[in-house]
Order: sequence, then structure tokens, then C-alpha cells
Amino acid sequence: MTKLPYLASGALLWRGYDYYTDHKVLSWEPTESGERPQQFDGVVSGNGDKPYEVHIDIAHPKKSTCTCPFAEGRHVICKHMVALYFSVYPAEVDELLHAEEQWEAEEAAREEAHRAETWQYVRGLKKVELQEGLYRALLEIDDLRNRRGWW
Ligand SMILES: [Zn+2]
Repeated sequence: MTKLPYLASGALLWRGYDYYTDHKVLSWEPTESGERPQQFDGVVSGNGDKPYEVHIDIAHPKKSTCTCPFAEGRHVICKHMVALYFSVYPAEVDELLHAEEQWEAEEAAREEAHRAETWQYVRGLKKVELQEGLYRALLEIDDLRNRRGWW
């Protein structure tokens, strides 16, 4: 089962993480009794003066609700839900950071492998192929430079 924070889009996941570390979660409590409650209510401060009322459902994340304009009346995960989730389960913040570190290391390894492959490819080319390749690459760089003015 995908945990609630990972159902949020990447940017929202990190915005929620920021809200958690910035202590935007003003209060929270379980709304079920028992040893392992699955539902929680919280109050999370937003951009405006009025804090949002957030409800998260761990077993059914899509049933979570928030009174913010992004999530109200829609079945989406918002940053306030993510912040509340991390307040309830602070140990999962370490898990998130660890996963991020791992992902970055994998990305760096992929990048390095790609560079090594490209170098191998270039070294294997004949002179005329190198000349053609360099010519095309220079034209492409020119193209990109010209296009930048439009951005
Ligand atoms: Zn919200």
C-alpha cells in the first residue's frame, strides 16, 4: 500500500515536509480509540489567517480531507495532509530523507554511467564521423542559443 505522502505529487510532498519542519501543524489528535488509530484530525496553518482543518485516513488516504482551496471537495492529497501525517509519524521523515538520498545516489551513478558510455562511443568514432558529429552538435548549440531568446 502506498503511504499517504507518496500519493501527493513530488512538489506537494516536499511542501508538506516543509510545513512539518516549520511547525505549521498547530495541533492534532486521533479520532479513533485503540492502540493503532488510523484516523486523525489536525489544524494546520496555511497562507491565510485562518488555519485549515485537516483529516487524514491512513488506511484509505484518498478519503482524507482538508478545508484548503486545493483539496476541498476533491479526492486529492494536499501538503497539509502530508504535514499532518509526518506529525503523527515523525519516524517516517527519516525514511523519506533516506529514500531521497538513495535516489540521488542512484541518479548520480546513472549520470556517470551515461558519461562513460558517451566517452566510449566518441572514442570509437572515425575522423569523418567525428567531424560530422561535431558539426551537428555545433548547429544544435546554435539552435538552442537562438531559441533561448524566446523563453
Ligand atoms: Zn490542504
